[in-house]
Amino acid sequence: MSKPPITFEVLAKNGEARAGMLTTRRGVIETPVFMPVGTAGTVKGMRFEMLEDELDARIILGNTYHLWLRPGVEVVRKCGGLHRFTGWERALLTDSGGFQIWSLGALRKITEEGTEFRSHLDGSLQFLSPEISMEVQSALGSEIVMAFDECAAGDAPPEISRTSMELTARWASRSRARFDSLQAEGRDEGRLGETEAISGAQALFGIVQGGAHLDLRRESLRRTAEIGFDGYAIGGLSVGEEKDVMWRVVSDLAAELPAEQPRYLMGVGTPEDLVEAVALGIDMFDCVLPTRNGRTGQAFTSRGKVNVKNAQWASDTRPLDDSCACSVCQRYSRAYLRHLHVSGEMLASILLTHHNLAFFLDTMRRVRQSIRSGDFTKFRREFTEGLNAYEQDKALSST
Ligand SMILES: [Zn+2]
Repeated sequence: MSKPPITFEVLAKNGEARAGMLTTRRGVIETPVFMPVGTAGTVKGMRFEMLEDELDARIILGNTYHLWLRPGVEVVRKCGGLHRFTGWERALLTDSGGFQIWSLGALRKITEEGTEFRSHLDGSLQFLSPEISMEVQSALGSEIVMAFDECAAGDAPPEISRTSMELTARWASRSRARFDSLQAEGRDEGRLGETEAISGAQALFGIVQGGAHLDLRRESLRRTAEIGFDGYAIGGLSVGEEKDVMWRVVSDLAAELPAEQPRYLMGVGTPEDLVEAVALGIDMFDCVLPTRNGRTGQAFTSRGKVNVKNAQWASDTRPLDDSCACSVCQRYSRAYLRHLHVSGEMLASILLTHHNLAFFLDTMRRVRQSIRSGDFTKFRREFTEGLNAYEQDKALSST
């Protein structure tokens, strides 16, 4: 039998929550894992040294849509793939571009062949298809490639969601076929020699769609699993639907995804979302919240959110989070961070992003430890209670 591109081993389970080990050609990733989003070949505001040395991020995301439009696939290919182009030597997951195009809304036109849309950079007409997405992702040379999917709005009626889900299933087959031929042609720029258990090639994940409709979700899962992928993602959530819709879908679907492979919940979410989704059996996450909110002055802490813009922190000498071991919390006060933010200093975004990512990654570290030691239920309860601490303080002080 030929070697697989990744291996995945579940080491411990607490209920549906799983602690596992995902081995890629560029390193071992303990799961559940949060993957910082590196949209344009950079996790905004973070040097890779920090991500590697202090935060120990093992895998980050790259966005096919953004990198394809700029700097363009030929530049990345000439530079030897995204790892060599950016200097990031650990694992990369690239999305397919489907979601980014969806988020352009009215600017796109979907046909059986693919999606036509106008670039957000210069308004030029562009076309992306499953085949083109696979070609771009092979040039990027990521460890994990995502199938090209179509995302319906979270509140779309059944007939729209069905059409979209069926198109996604056909595009999944086309993604698989083109991906396999590119691997055979040696077009994967990130290829590494074979290590003991894995082939050194790229892995391909399928995406389950179907909007808010559980029957469509189940059908999508069945059709995606029939094609056969190295891992499975739930897509099309956290796209404006009500939160209870998201939880209905995840709780119905998560434990139904193939147990032998990693399960990835795309684009979700807050720290409490991550812990809740882990409880339902999810292994992998990505979300822009820690980086995007860091740039707008919001910190995630173990006691809830802290908005550094608030005047109440003007002379507060405490760190963002007493129980955070990150280098920002060891050195800088809320008062100083607030000053930097209101002064428009770029360091504010850098430090808040750093802390937020440290908090997300540390939360996942504690999740993994608690699953391995059989204490996940207790951890989950205490963690969720802790996040409400500031809200409770506020409620108490107003009574
Ligand atoms: Zn911190």
